[in-house]
Amino acid sequence: MTQAHQLPDLPYSLDALEPYISKETLKYHHGKHHAGYINKLNNAIAGTEYSGKSLEQIIATAEGSVFNNAAQVWNHTFYWQCLGPATKGELENEIGSAIERDFASPDDFKQRFTEAATSLFGSGWTWLVINPKSELEIVNTENADTPLRHGQVPLLTCDVWEHAYYLDYQNARPEYLQAFWKLVNWEFVNRQYLTAETGAPHAVSR
Ligand code: ZN
Repeated sequence: MTQAHQLPDLPYSLDALEPYISKETLKYHHGKHHAGYINKLNNAIAGTEYSGKSLEQIIATAEGSVFNNAAQVWNHTFYWQCLGPATKGELENEIGSAIERDFASPDDFKQRFTEAATSLFGSGWTWLVINPKSELEIVNTENADTPLRHGQVPLLTCDVWEHAYYLDYQNARPEYLQAFWKLVNWEFVNRQYLTAETGAPHAVSR
């Protein structure tokens, strides 16, 4: 029997984010942590009502470890796509205009996002989302929680679990955040924004 959910390849090579995020970090983060969530998810759903369902379907209704592992799988797949080798594209285009509309300036947005990520206690994720009022908003989710569960459309995320940065920056989360801004793939973020605005369904899994 094939495994229900499979680890997606990284959209770039293991050393593509150096010097900001090391090959060593990506090797463990993708090959151990992300893969671990996939394995635990597959074990947890085998023979249950969730077997054969998409990640998004599981995330919509599951609780406990099934939810935690499904959400962590989805969140990581999304996170990899939010990054790229040095900055891919500037903060411009439609997403740039939307950020100018809903924040004082692009720098104000980055500062608020960084503050949210830095102040998140323990493990979790910081996101730029479209909220149910169709406004851009910065939100934190704790542990595995994900905006998909809260009627929000994710556009950008930063993984602030310590495993995302400990090998490179030890416990210095602010330094990791500085590096994060060097790696954001704005083309991807803009595509997410345009997809949401045209009402197409949102999915990272196939
Ligand atoms: Zn992670």
